[in-house]
Amino acid sequence: MALLYSVNGSQFTEDAQTLFKKRTLCLMTSKINIHNEADVMVITVNNPPINAGSTEVRKGLLAAIQLFQNDPKSSAAVVIGGGSTFIAGSDIKEFSEALAEPHLPSIIAAIENCPKPVVCALHGAALGGGFELALGCDGRIALEGTMMGLPEVTLGIIPGAGGTQRLPRLIGLEKSIELICGGTRISGSEALKLGILNKLVNHDLQTQAIIFARSLLGQKARIRDLDPPHAEVASVLMASQKALKAGKNRPNIYKAIEMISNVMTKPIDEGLAIEREAFQNLRLSTEAKALRHQFFAERKLFKALSSGDTAPKVIEKIAIIGAGTMGSGIAIACLTAGYTVLLIDQNEVALKNGTQKVKDFYESRVQSGKMAIDKAALLLKSFSYSMQWRDIAAADLIVEAVFEDIEVKYAVFQKIEAHANPSALLASNTSYLDIDAIAAKISNPARIFGLHFFSPAQVMKLIEIIRCKFSSPITIASGLQFAKRLGKMPVISTNSFGFIGNRIYAAYRRQCEFMLEEGAYPKQIDQALEDYGFAMGPFAVADLSGLDIAWAMRQSLAATRNPEHRYVSIPDTLCLAGRLGRKAGAGYYQYRAGEKLGTVDPVVNSIIDAASAAKGITRREFTPQEIVKRVLLAMMNEIAHLASEKIVGDVTDCDIALVNGYGFPRWCGGPVFIANEMGSEKLNFELQELANLSGPGFVIANTGALFKPF
Ligand code: NAD
Repeated sequence: MALLYSVNGSQFTEDAQTLFKKRTLCLMTSKINIHNEADVMVITVNNPPINAGSTEVRKGLLAAIQLFQNDPKSSAAVVIGGGSTFIAGSDIKEFSEALAEPHLPSIIAAIENCPKPVVCALHGAALGGGFELALGCDGRIALEGTMMGLPEVTLGIIPGAGGTQRLPRLIGLEKSIELICGGTRISGSEALKLGILNKLVNHDLQTQAIIFARSLLGQKARIRDLDPPHAEVASVLMASQKALKAGKNRPNIYKAIEMISNVMTKPIDEGLAIEREAFQNLRLSTEAKALRHQFFAERKLFKALSSGDTAPKVIEKIAIIGAGTMGSGIAIACLTAGYTVLLIDQNEVALKNGTQKVKDFYESRVQSGKMAIDKAALLLKSFSYSMQWRDIAAADLIVEAVFEDIEVKYAVFQKIEAHANPSALLASNTSYLDIDAIAAKISNPARIFGLHFFSPAQVMKLIEIIRCKFSSPITIASGLQFAKRLGKMPVISTNSFGFIGNRIYAAYRRQCEFMLEEGAYPKQIDQALEDYGFAMGPFAVADLSGLDIAWAMRQSLAATRNPEHRYVSIPDTLCLAGRLGRKAGAGYYQYRAGEKLGTVDPVVNSIIDAASAAKGITRREFTPQEIVKRVLLAMMNEIAHLASEKIVGDVTDCDIALVNGYGFPRWCGGPVFIANEMGSEKLNFELQELANLSGPGFVIANTGALFKPF
């Protein structure tokens, strides 16, 4: 047959011409480019920035595969990503609606049914649908440094394009359970070891992929044709139990295990159909919607952070004042992010203990195999400690983490000002104190802001950046940049009592205390909230952090408290009885020596009964549902107050804060998400009921701000 013309290096025959025209129309509107390198068709995905597998990409890919199949001059094909990555996931925006055709399984079926070999060439990231596409090809080659995996479970779903059916046929059930249920990303070298990749190269990916594709000419190497793998029941069970525990027993983890197990008992087409149905059902579940809400809220937050036009100050050296619980944790967080850190304390023993905590942290990382000894040694080389204030002169940022006492903070900031570089930024880690009042006492208040870390500071993702009255845009931009480098989730709050997180938490705890007075007991409330998904109930948390801190705060506020407002005295009674929490062996619970979990103490129940009787409250039964509902409503109401008072800019930041700093279950989305699921009318009605139950002092907020489109 005569050759008629060539497009992008591909020559087409008369027969193929009609087909080409048809396909070209489609391809031209898509995100797919094709060209030929002699007999190998190269299909390139171009959908920056991450080459997400959108409808346009799927349409173009299917058309390209069909074109390849019908092109007699192309004997093999390579699918590759344009730009910096292969397909790094699906277009999650599409997940809330009915997915447009063609679906990914149809593209993979077209590759598998094509009699000619198709190879995937991976670089950057091959995640989710991108990785499933690769598993549908006849061979996989990757550039060193490529990351791959199936992170679908983190969005409340499971792989829906054969991931649970093809991966186990390649690497076995146990490893598939670990990778799929953990949403784990693996490196190219690990994938090569596991047999997922055929080749790993360190340069010229496309050229090497073409050579590899030619080596398969005339062959098909479909994973679907492999026999089910060998599986030991006991080890599969063990892997499943481990995955369920790590995955907090979420329904999609159960489903993923069920799908993976189907590989042993069902033909692949049946397994694929069952997987697709499960994927579609999970995709439309409230849990998946909630997780997408969290995903988009975090993405929006990071986009906003990087879109600011104020250049941050360069920060490399950090001085931390106060080597206690927070100071030592902040030091670890900074060192791990590669900063040079100086730890200062006025107390020799405290400094020694704080320093030891930092050193112990890295030693235990090395011992547990989580950090190479050289890396730990290198990080610790950037660490120093001192009792001399003059040593802070070299710091670019000084973080104060001394006792929560305004007079102590005033004195410390005086010393900081006397010794710091005049251009250094100054941050306070205070939980509740007025940073504007501290700023008013120093000569350049534009450089002061709040950096509210959460305990343990080296672990907790949340950090509140407190914008004070005089904080300059550079100060805030630098704080955000710093938080980002620490790998934290920074949420901006204006300077106000308790900022964002602690304000919401206080409303939550207050509501739980109301329920104690009305008829519930600590264990019942904690259990209901833990069953809902909170990491810990509020009374177990209070015992862990110590009841004395909140007690001192209540005492400091006593003079200004409105006597008409409902006030629950149960925690004060516990403190007066010396029940200061776990450290005292007793708080809301009783703690036996060496035991972390407290047991119910009848003495506490009697204190609670007496508190109800003293107010003439007839105690009543509570259901777990009522407990959870009251807590969520109290949080929604407080978030609406924060928005009205302009303490928070974007209410979805509150959902991020609660999930990343307060153990709120991510898969429930957060109070703002739940409010939107309820709708404004129902919420306002329920808040009226809550106000009636809560009594004087509970102010219903204007909830309008909760219902702005995300
Ligand atoms: P801490 O008592 O464990 O440590 C405070 C340290 O500051 C002590 O080592 C003390 O010796 C030192 N210090 C006190 N006065 C000093 C001075 N004048 N000069 C130098 N060092 C001085 O307290 P912490 O729990 O680490 O809390 C520190 C700050 O962090 C407080 O403002 C607190 O509200 C805030 N915070 C605490 C937590 C938490 O969970 N502990 C969480 C977030 C924020």
